[in-house]
Amino acid sequence: MPDDVKPPANGKDARKHDYTTRLSHAGRAGTHVHGFVNPAVHRGSTVLYPDMAGRKAAGNHRLDQYLVYGVMGGPTHYALEDMIAEIEGGTRCQIVSSGLAAVTVPLLAYLKSGDHCLMPDSVYGPARTFADGMMAGFGITTTFYDPCINAAGLRALLQANTKVLYLESPGSHTFEVQDVPALAEVAHAHGAKVLMDNTWGIHHFQPFTHGVDVSIQALTKYAVGHSDVMLGSITVNDDAEWETVRMATLSLGQFASPDDCWLALRGLRTMAVRMARQEKSTIEVAAWLQRQPEVAHILYPALPGAPGHDIWKRDFTGACSLFAIVMKPGFSQDAVFAMADRLELFGIGASWGGFESLVMPSGTTVPPGSLGVVRSAGTGQFGGEIVRLHIGLEAPEDLIADLRQAMDVLHSNTIGGAID
Ligand SMILES: *Cc1c(COP(=O)(O)O)cnc(C)c1O
Repeated sequence: MPDDVKPPANGKDARKHDYTTRLSHAGRAGTHVHGFVNPAVHRGSTVLYPDMAGRKAAGNHRLDQYLVYGVMGGPTHYALEDMIAEIEGGTRCQIVSSGLAAVTVPLLAYLKSGDHCLMPDSVYGPARTFADGMMAGFGITTTFYDPCINAAGLRALLQANTKVLYLESPGSHTFEVQDVPALAEVAHAHGAKVLMDNTWGIHHFQPFTHGVDVSIQALTKYAVGHSDVMLGSITVNDDAEWETVRMATLSLGQFASPDDCWLALRGLRTMAVRMARQEKSTIEVAAWLQRQPEVAHILYPALPGAPGHDIWKRDFTGACSLFAIVMKPGFSQDAVFAMADRLELFGIGASWGGFESLVMPSGTTVPPGSLGVVRSAGTGQFGGEIVRLHIGLEAPEDLIADLRQAMDVLHSNTIGGAID
């Protein structure tokens, strides 16, 4: 119905406000809200048309926020899409069922048989699995490159059929920061599209002002913020990209539950305060860890002196609360596992961005794949065991005390750890 047609949500005016203001106001206005502060959960498959003329008109609105059929989204989806597009500084957003779906849908949208894709060696593991598995099966080849590559290095890897430059910055587990504007320029000069997993950066990195064409988010992380919902988003800043992404999403039957979208909208209202607190705590914990004799390096670009700090400072407005420590080479994997077991406040588990602290030993990347972390371009070798930490909303002094008592186990005779 005409009442439900909305223009793209994000006129220039919306951006005059700070993102913290937008988190309180976006995704609420318009005919879908009926006066309540928050949108309702609209569940449904069938949409009834007023008459056959209405049925005929609906077919022309597959690219719009227009009620056609459940799989094409409804008012709760639209509200969340508007919100994410605003946060990322794009024009349109597509919500999908998980962060991983937000990775795979655009890869399928922009690549076809005979094409070549460039992916960073530090890419999110399941994205690598998709490239090596399904994409390869479709006749799409992928080269994994050093995430810290410069423009000249990237140019040397381009092939005539390179259609996608995939970026993820900072990288999974090892947090390499990519020179996105320089790499995007090389890709565009070659006619390739730039897809970026912006989950770590979320609102701290504006993808479209740095040359990205398609921005991917695992909303499962900070947007949801409570470790209880899985969702992903694909955001663009251009009508042609929107058509490509939207048509691929519809073709693949991607759908997210409106209940989950509603929970993500609720999570987003407090994201700025959660993330500010988590960033502050993370800097405190990381700086403390840097001074501990068991720790060789910190992989957290927000920390002065850490790898990638200069590019992070140039391109990001802040940091999230996920980072890693590299243990001194003398500590075995068994010793590091014992340390993880000893932690009381850090749960052992995948994912991140919730309110609770987590620990995930990543192994060393030598030998490759020792804990499922695969590198094929020879990057990510730090000599010691890598331990990924997510800092939640707990008091940082409690987290520090917990880490200290757990690291003491590294010196117990039974596991034979040693400080070199
Ligand atoms: C978690 C994650 C994803 C996948 O998100 P899910 O919602 O868990 O499927 C994608 N990219 C990165 C960088 C992630 O950390």
